[in-house]
Amino acid sequence: MTVLSFEDARRVVEEHAAKLSAPVTEWVGLQAASGRVLAEDVFADRDLPPFPRSTRDGYAVRSDDVAKLPATLDVIGEIKAGEQEEKIPTAVEPGQTVSIMTGAPVPSGADSVVMVEYTTRRGNRVEIARSTAPGENIVPCGAEAKRGSRLLGRGMRLNEAAIAVAASVGKSRLQVYARPRVAVLSTGDEIVDVETAPGPTQIRNSNSYSLAVQVSRAGGDPTLLPIAPDEPHRLKELIEEGLRFDLLLMTGGVSMGRYDLVEQVLAELHAEFFFTGAKIQPGKPVVFGRCENRHLWQHRPEVGQPASAGERPASGKTYFFGLPGNPVSTMVTFELFARPMIEALSAQIPRKLSFLHAKLRSEIRVKPGLRRFLPAILSGEFDQSEVELVSWQGSGDIAATARANCYVVIPPDRECIPRGEWVALLMP
Ligand code: AMP
Ligand code: MG
Repeated sequence: MTVLSFEDARRVVEEHAAKLSAPVTEWVGLQAASGRVLAEDVFADRDLPPFPRSTRDGYAVRSDDVAKLPATLDVIGEIKAGEQEEKIPTAVEPGQTVSIMTGAPVPSGADSVVMVEYTTRRGNRVEIARSTAPGENIVPCGAEAKRGSRLLGRGMRLNEAAIAVAASVGKSRLQVYARPRVAVLSTGDEIVDVETAPGPTQIRNSNSYSLAVQVSRAGGDPTLLPIAPDEPHRLKELIEEGLRFDLLLMTGGVSMGRYDLVEQVLAELHAEFFFTGAKIQPGKPVVFGRCENRHLWQHRPEVGQPASAGERPASGKTYFFGLPGNPVSTMVTFELFARPMIEALSAQIPRKLSFLHAKLRSEIRVKPGLRRFLPAILSGEFDQSEVELVSWQGSGDIAATARANCYVVIPPDRECIPRGEWVALLMP
């Protein structure tokens, strides 16, 4: 038994994650790139903005001309966004101005833009009621990015802003890393599939479905394996199937009960165990390890490729997590330990675990010794954020977790957290 503190367990996962090699890459169109991990650097193909851009509707002026107010200037033209080059006045001379729209190029000679709100147009003349500083309401050519500069880096997860950047530099397709294929294996004699009518003592499989959501959100490609019974032979078969993926997530069967067989079967497969417990609640019996997978290919060629993507794990070993079966434990231990592994398998730049903070609405009392992650509701807005635990029946209470929107994190040395204290929140 290797039971680590939360921090040590997390460090062990991060250390292994840091040593993984990058997966294969593929090309995707921009609309399919959301949430994918960039496998190339993206550069500015020209200066951004490509011309001095007016940020206002108004008049492009020489700031000297509007130093003394009111100033009346000759309007020599109009420049709209996208104006043809030949229609743009080549110079704005002293005493002159050009009517200009947001997003239009500022002509040479003008050094600032007066907002239209501070002007009165009279035929070909305009009266200006505000002075401007040089540069006001203009983004200079290349101020956002110089041509050739790196705008997006390999290893970043593509969000809407990154995709907008790619579009703005003409990258209609992006090279991204293949999603890691993650096998999800629920275990337990009492567990039946969602389509099956459960007997009086049976429980529907919910963990495979919550895990599939979490895997996808972390950047992985989940495959649900059939439910494994608490029987070593079939359990071993399914674990071996799962070891053919890039990562195997198991739930249930890792506690101390007589029928908790996951560790036993993995030991028979000569797995290495990095920890078999963490001082957390929920989720204490969480297991992390690694197992050879080469022999699975040699001995069972008839099995063919894994169901999803069709490639063997890049290395000869597959990492696995045995997550405790209680549904809230499964969700919490995924976030804390499995997520960084999936992020690393998809070549994402590692994210540090960070917590929001909010004021506690009512006192919390717990037994010390474990770091706790308790389902809670964060409410209020702006600087009035408050958090309160949901009442629950323990880590099997899925309904309570569905009412919650975060977890309050309680350090292992705390017994009583008074109302009003700022507490850390894990946001799934
Ligand atoms: P175990 O970790 O196998 O001792 O299971 C702990 C608790 O979680 C038991 O009450 C199980 O019935 C429940 N459980 C285990 N696996 C699942 C699952 N896939 N879906 C829902 N509940 C589960
Ligand atoms: Mg079980």
